[in-house]
Amino acid sequence: MPYDLLVVGAGPAGLSAAIYARARNKSVLVVSNDPTASPLCKAHQIDNYPGIAHITGLQLVEDMLAQAREMGAEFRQGRVLTLMPLGDSVMASIGDQVEQATAVVLAPGVARATPLPGEEKLLGRGVSYCATCDGMFYRGKQVVVAGDAPDLAEETEYLRSIGCEVTSVRLPGLHILGEDQVTGVRTAKGEEIPCQGVFLLRASIAPTQLAPGLELDGNYVKVNSFMATNLPGIYAAGDCTGQPLQLAKAVGEGQIAAHHALGL
Ligand SMILES: Cc1cc2nc3c(=O)[nH]c(=O)nc-3n(C[C@H](O)[C@H](O)[C@H](O)COP(=O)(O)OP(=O)(O)OC[C@H]3O[C@@H](n4cnc5c(N)ncnc54)[C@H](O)[C@@H]3O)c2cc1C
Repeated sequence: MPYDLLVVGAGPAGLSAAIYARARNKSVLVVSNDPTASPLCKAHQIDNYPGIAHITGLQLVEDMLAQAREMGAEFRQGRVLTLMPLGDSVMASIGDQVEQATAVVLAPGVARATPLPGEEKLLGRGVSYCATCDGMFYRGKQVVVAGDAPDLAEETEYLRSIGCEVTSVRLPGLHILGEDQVTGVRTAKGEEIPCQGVFLLRASIAPTQLAPGLELDGNYVKVNSFMATNLPGIYAAGDCTGQPLQLAKAVGEGQIAAHHALGL
């Protein structure tokens, strides 16, 4: 049975969507990187959220998580890699797993990642975002791993365990080399490392990579007043839809998105 709603991101927008859906007895799966590792959790004091005068970002996220859990939302820790509308539902790939939902609320926050030189051209031609999904293609080959994903160490270890020759490098300033296929990378220091595969394991993935064909408005996901994107079954809420990048806006949009995503 597909979930009624799948939510990408357990920040205020995603949790608001999940709480709204559970209050209407709909099944909800929230998929997120570790929610307490989100940048909001570094906020020492939040003073502008109506009704809660002084609270830390971490406490606020923990309270929202507890509320969503108590109401019956299901949670899975992991990165959503792709969303694909498929008839009356949307398929989501989460690492090497797949889930299906009638609708999706995309709430991944601001996508801080701009594609690296060569990344888009060589995606699927040596560039991958998931070691456990694509690692087997590179058994016994040289690969480079870069990123800041919470599961970076696990994914790197997985590549080593299946016999890849792994070099870890820093993401900033990295160039991916090759015409039709990856042939190597050049680091910020100018060092060239030959390889057949490059695993970019970022905590946040650009929305257009998550959902191919997704329309943007500048750097943000384009939505209408129902928070619907141009893709069927995919709604968006929170920082990913644009200014103001604030909690109250994220929470409100999460609710509107869930309302329309559930056809209410
Ligand atoms: C230091 C700091 C202080 C702030 N102070 C205030 C304040 O005082 N008042 C205020 O109103 N606002 C404040 N903000 C802004 C506020 O935090 C944001 O507007 C709000 O968190 C946006 O919520 P969101 O749910 O859209 O995204 P986020 O809170 O960013 O949550 C998105 C979540 O989705 C996860 N995610 C992303 N991509 C994926 C993926 N592909 N798969 C799975 N999970 C994914 C992320 O890791 C993250 O956990 C502050 C922000 C920061 C960084």
